[in-house]
Amino acid sequence: MPNNANICPVCGYPNLFEPPYDEFSCSSHEICPSCGVQFGYDDATRSHQDLREKWISGGCKWHSKGTKMPENWKALEQLKKVKKNNGKPQGV
Ligand SMILES: [Zn+2]
Repeated sequence: MPNNANICPVCGYPNLFEPPYDEFSCSSHEICPSCGVQFGYDDATRSHQDLREKWISGGCKWHSKGTKMPENWKALEQLKKVKKNNGKPQGV
């Protein structure tokens, strides 16, 4: 098991409570505190890349009011992780 399983596939937030999808592709229904995507709901009709682009074009804002933004949080640093993770080139 990779130890990065709890990374948000949309924005790269690394501290989700559960992996967004388990080994049976069941979604956690967790809402990412960073980009606000609910797994199994928001991403049921739109691709992760689509949601990511929407989040980026909205200014990469911290979504959650219940979960505090990490100190020194940098959306762009975080996004690098997910891009690396997906292995997909940017802007395709
Ligand atoms: Zn996210």
